[in-house]
Amino acid sequence: MNQSLFEMMQSMGHEQVVFCHDPHSGLNAIIAIHNTTLGPALGGTRLWPYLNSEEALIDALRLSRGMTFKAAISGLNLGGGKAVIMADPNQKSEALWRRYGKFVDSLNGKYITAEDVNTAARDMEFIAMQTEHVTGVPEYMGGSGDPSPFTAYGVYMGMKASTKKTWGNDSLSGKKILVQGVGHVGQYLVGHLVKEGAKVFITDINEAKIKQTQQANPSVEYVAGEKIFDLDMDIYAPCALGATLNTESIGKLKAKVVAGAANNQLADEDVHGPMLIEKGILYAPDFLINAGGLINVAAELETYNADRVKGNVEKIYNRSLEIFELSEREKIHTQAAAMRIAEKRIADIAAVNARL
Ligand code: NAD
Repeated sequence: MNQSLFEMMQSMGHEQVVFCHDPHSGLNAIIAIHNTTLGPALGGTRLWPYLNSEEALIDALRLSRGMTFKAAISGLNLGGGKAVIMADPNQKSEALWRRYGKFVDSLNGKYITAEDVNTAARDMEFIAMQTEHVTGVPEYMGGSGDPSPFTAYGVYMGMKASTKKTWGNDSLSGKKILVQGVGHVGQYLVGHLVKEGAKVFITDINEAKIKQTQQANPSVEYVAGEKIFDLDMDIYAPCALGATLNTESIGKLKAKVVAGAANNQLADEDVHGPMLIEKGILYAPDFLINAGGLINVAAELETYNADRVKGNVEKIYNRSLEIFELSEREKIHTQAAAMRIAEKRIADIAAVNARL
C-alpha cells in the first residue's frame, strides 16, 4: 500500500473502518462505513479468499464508497457501507456468521448488512440471530430473500436504456451479448436476455455454473475466459468481480455498450471512464444500474412490497438515459455524470439536515 490507512480514508472520504477478529470461529472481517449523510450505511458482506488483509481492506474501501453513490442516485435514505470477510467459502459456519452478527450489532445500526458475493439469504439468517441490523433475510423469516433477481432486472433495464442510446431503439433481439460470471445475478440476467431473443455468450471460472446456465438456457454459448475480449460482441456485461475494464481490456474490447452487475468495473475511474468514451463505447455506470438489489433490501426496512420494488427498479431505465444525456451535454464520462448527480443529492440533503 502506498498510502496509510488514514490517508486512504481521507482521500476516499470514509468515516469509519472496523476490524473484527475472532480466533474461535476464524473470523477476520473488515466493515467499512463510507458516508452516513443520507442514513445508516447499508451494504452487503462479501466473503472472499483474499490473499492478504491489504487486498481485503482496499476492496472494502472501494465497495463501500460505491454503495454511498448507489444509494444516493437511487433516491434512498441510506448511506454507504460494505464488509468483507477473509475466508474460503468452505469455511462458512454458524459460529462465524453469529460472531460476525455480534460485531455488526455493536455498531448500533450505523451499518446494516446484506448478501454479496459468496453470502446467501441463509447466512443472513444466522446473522439475524445476533442483530436486527441485517436485510436480505429469507422470505420465511419475513425478509425479502435473495436480492439478485432485482439486481439482474435493474441491469437489464440499464442495458436496454444503453441500447436505446446507442442503436436508437431498446430491443436486445439479435444483439450479441457476453455475460461474464453466471452466478446469482448473471443467471437471472441471462434469462431476461434469452427471453428477448439476444444471442448470449457466457463465461465463468466455475464449471457447475456454466452447466446450470446452459441447462436452463440451451441456446447460450460458452466462451473461455482468455478469449472473451477477442469475441465479436455488441454488449459486454461484467457480472463477476470488479476492475475488468482496464487499459488492456478496453484496448481489445469490440462491444459498443458495457452494462453489467459487477461493482467497480473501471480499474481507474479517471483513466478508464474517458478511455471508453474515446473508443466510442457507452458505459452504463455500475452503481447506477446494479442498484436493484439495494432497492429491494432497503424496502425490507419499511413495509415490503415486491411490486413497488419492481416499479422502483424500472426507474433505472430513465435514470440511465438522463445520465447519458448529462454526460453528453457536459462532456464528461458517464461514471462522472452519475457521481455528480449522487454527490449533489448528498450535499443537498446535508444542507437540509443542517437546519431545524
Ligand atoms: P456470485 O458469486 O453469485 O457470482 C459471481 C460469478 O462470477 C460466480 O459464478 C463466479 O464463479 C464467477 N467468477 C468469478 N471470477 C470470475 C472470472 N475471473 N471470470 C469469470 N467468472 C468469474 O455473485 P453475484 O451475487 O452474482 O454478484 C456478481 C457481481 O455483481 C459482484 O461483483 C457483486 O458485487 C455485484 N452485485 C451483486 C448484487 C446482488 O444482488 N447479488 C448487487 C449489486 C452488485
